[in-house]
Amino acid sequence: MKRFIPILLLIISIIITSCKADERKTTVSFFSMDTYMSIDAYGDSSEAAQKAKNRVLELEKLFSATDANSEIYAINSGNFGSVSPETLELTGFAVEMSKKTGGALDPTIYPILREWGFTTGEYRVPDSETLSELLKNVGIENVKLNGNSISLGEGVMIDLGAVAKGYASEECAKILRENCVASALINLGGNIQLVGSRPDGEPWRIGVADPLEPLDDKNVGILSVTDCAVVTSGNYQRFFIENDTVYGHIIDPKTGIPVNNDLLSVTVIANDGTLCDALSTALFVMGYEKAERYWRDNRDFEAVFITKNNTVCVTSGIYQNFELSEYFDFELVEIK
Ligand code: AMP
Ligand code: MG
Repeated sequence: MKRFIPILLLIISIIITSCKADERKTTVSFFSMDTYMSIDAYGDSSEAAQKAKNRVLELEKLFSATDANSEIYAINSGNFGSVSPETLELTGFAVEMSKKTGGALDPTIYPILREWGFTTGEYRVPDSETLSELLKNVGIENVKLNGNSISLGEGVMIDLGAVAKGYASEECAKILRENCVASALINLGGNIQLVGSRPDGEPWRIGVADPLEPLDDKNVGILSVTDCAVVTSGNYQRFFIENDTVYGHIIDPKTGIPVNNDLLSVTVIANDGTLCDALSTALFVMGYEKAERYWRDNRDFEAVFITKNNTVCVTSGIYQNFELSEYFDFELVEIK
């Protein structure tokens, strides 16, 4: 029996220490999906972090609307053969969220995005005839999912840009957890996905950027959160200026014109990163009043809305975890 005691102790200590984070940190930084990304993983995590990065690169190859070898490119070119489960799942999700959000999120916006130059960086303001012609093909009724293939109506093209980073961040978190990483911060171009808490056991402190001065280090406020996703959308993230007018990358599918309403940014907090990504874009399109109503009707997420009249509106489930920065003269309002 004496011989077995040390073995037993060893087994117990392995069980106790397994998947525990320590301060050792692996950072993997890379460029994908048209943005800078980084994965900070704690403990014995370097292999897992590499695997997570490789998964993002793999997903980019499926979802990119501009890569001639991607599945989305093939679908947009009229090749309606079978696609991977990932492309099927994410397209299906985007279609469902489009229905749920009354068309505020719409993956068929792609031809319009292209016309504004958001897919190439060669920006221009399209004329209204061109836009109304292109708008005829916008709408998810033009997307059909049949078994494992996706087909589109004539002239219809899709873009998963509003949900792909959220989906990729979920996949990263899954890989890290499967590989026994208990603490990680995944930042895919501002789409934050958190695994567990900080290695010291404290909540993560995630800054909500100032949409008026996004390049400044100063945040409007800080969210203290654990094991969830935090995703922000706003037209300050990508835009061009022509004749003193700012045109941002989030388009209202009803008009084909970049959103210009009472919101500066929307941050969505929930466990599911793909949902956060879809919702932050959709709520930004809706404008404050509709977005607030959407939260009241659903309540499966929390949100921080920054409005053009310098108000920060925070939903009740996250209000206690939000700390307004001392630098800002914004009014803080709890949405109940
Ligand atoms: P996000 O950064 O997640 O808010 O997504 C913005 C990206 O989604 C844009 O860069 C476009 O690729 C795409 N997009 C723009 N407007 C819409 C929209 N109304 N519905 C779906 N995707 C959109
Ligand atoms: Mg989004």
